[in-house]
Amino acid sequence: MEREINNVVIYLRKSRGDDMTVLDNHKLELVEYANKNGWKYNVFEEVVSGERLANRPKMQKVLDLIEQGLYDGILVMDIDRLTRGNMRELGEIIEVINYANIPIITPTKTYDVSDIGENALLGIKGTFSHMELKKIIERLINGKKAGAKKGNWTNGTPPYPYEYIKKVSIDAKGKEQIWGKLVVNEEKRKVYESIKDMYLSGTHGFEAISFYLNNQNISSPNSKLWSSNTVQRILLHELHMGIVTYGKNEWRKDREGRKKVIKQRDKSEWSTGVGEHEKLKTEDEHKKILEIMNRNQKIPRKSRKGTFALSGLVYCKKCGKRMRIVIGKEDKRGYRAKYLQCTYKDPYGNKCVQRGVKLSEELFDVLYSNVINNYLIDDKLTEMEKSSKEIDVNKVLLIQKKNYLSKNEKKLERIMEAYEKGVYTLEQFLNRKEPVEKDIEKLKNEVINLEEEIGKIRILNTDELEDRIKYFKNNWNKATTPKEQNDLLKAIVNKIYYNRQDDEVDLEIIYL
Ligand SMILES: [Zn+2]
Repeated sequence: MEREINNVVIYLRKSRGDDMTVLDNHKLELVEYANKNGWKYNVFEEVVSGERLANRPKMQKVLDLIEQGLYDGILVMDIDRLTRGNMRELGEIIEVINYANIPIITPTKTYDVSDIGENALLGIKGTFSHMELKKIIERLINGKKAGAKKGNWTNGTPPYPYEYIKKVSIDAKGKEQIWGKLVVNEEKRKVYESIKDMYLSGTHGFEAISFYLNNQNISSPNSKLWSSNTVQRILLHELHMGIVTYGKNEWRKDREGRKKVIKQRDKSEWSTGVGEHEKLKTEDEHKKILEIMNRNQKIPRKSRKGTFALSGLVYCKKCGKRMRIVIGKEDKRGYRAKYLQCTYKDPYGNKCVQRGVKLSEELFDVLYSNVINNYLIDDKLTEMEKSSKEIDVNKVLLIQKKNYLSKNEKKLERIMEAYEKGVYTLEQFLNRKEPVEKDIEKLKNEVINLEEEIGKIRILNTDELEDRIKYFKNNWNKATTPKEQNDLLKAIVNKIYYNRQDDEVDLEIIYL
């Protein structure tokens, strides 16, 4: 999940046949689970378990609170405790949880409902079969598409400054319905208006606006500080001029569980409509925002042009960010000096205190001598030896595993031969073959992992490093273009840490 879990709502429901002690035990277990994880919690117990959502006041309350964004998760004993086994109802509850973009947590598994496209819910055990859940998911997606075409917001948390309000009601035919609408949060409206005005007047870019908002202590849409990306996303969003779109992007989760857009789908696959919600910008304003953005982007950063000897290699020792090469103004002779600079600004717009330096012969002399001499510093050597020992252990292991693997493969061959010669019955053959095959499978995986491990730590041992330094020494002066110099450096250097104290510049070399 993207968000960190701090507050959860615990929902307890009595099943047919449960007596109160069951509910009490569940309560104990869930409270203990929340405490163990350091979460704050509120408990809601549904004692009278109505057939319908409308008759389950506690669940309605829980859904309301979830929508107001009060919780980062809903904690239940099992998914089937959310409903009385009615598929349609589960679909509706899941829909609300999905709008709030929070996970359903059980003591054994966490379900990320927003992950519906990847059928993450299909692992749910209990009352619902695979097919039933698949239907729920399909219905949700189709409902979202149809909703977007009608201009209904169907996409989880709406962009700043909108909020989504949902209600459960019974229609004329007695059918239960969940409906919702987008409203503008009045406090946030003022902030949005000033963001828009600042950008349209041309006085502030995305980044400058984010600095302004952070300095004003205005809370951002997420739990972090404002960033230029957040401001940009809000200003470019089409919802503010009335347009609702569903299915624009295809998502996948990265290893940390963060959502990543893999690609934008073809426009023909989008479901788009015009909403009834209050509009906060006109089409003209939207066009103007796009124009200003395109204009700003067309001014290329001079430093991006071309490769310099130090491109991509130098990091600021004070803030850890990569440094840039910046080209200065033209002097009287028409010459532009180049500078190595840390251009990092914190979220409030404060510049990193690191002072840059002009790219000069002297600087390159320092660089050259450090590249060829830094490895002689003792602690660096021991560090390198340590990691080369680690590799040695892995190499020994690899040889061992490969040995076992070939022994097992031979064993398997012998079993096959014996069976062919009629020494074994089919049953004996299968019984002997299976464990050997399992071992082979396991060993193959271990070999692959070890090979990967060894390949990953590509730290050179000292002999190899000395060879490379020799090569570097011989060729540095022959390199005529910045590109050649850059390539030479990259063949030996991983990072260069830059630090300046008054007039003294220190370049710390981290070898590959
Ligand atoms: Zn810095």
